[in-house]
Amino acid sequence: MPSMFIRVEVDSKAAADRELAKKLVEVCPVSIFDLDDEGKARVVEENEDECVLCDLCVQAAPPGQVRVIKLYEEPA
Ligand code: SF4
Repeated sequence: MPSMFIRVEVDSKAAADRELAKKLVEVCPVSIFDLDDEGKARVVEENEDECVLCDLCVQAAPPGQVRVIKLYEEPA
C-alpha cells in the first residue's frame, strides 16, 4: 500500500472570514485549523496527516473554498 499524505487548503477569502475561521477550528476533530493573530484561519501543517477525511471542514465552507487533497506517495 502506498502511504497517503493529506494537504488541506483554505482559500484566502475563506481564511479571512472570521466566522468561517472559527467554525473550521470547531468542526475539525483533529485540530488541523487554528486562528492566527488576526483571527484568520490557518492550517496547522504538523497536524495535516492526522486528517480523518471526515469532510466536515469542506461542508462548513462555501463550495470550493476548503479543499482536502489526498496525495499518494509513489511506491519506490
Ligand atoms: S476533513 Fe475532517 S479531519 Fe480533515 S481537515 Fe477537514 S475537518 Fe479536519
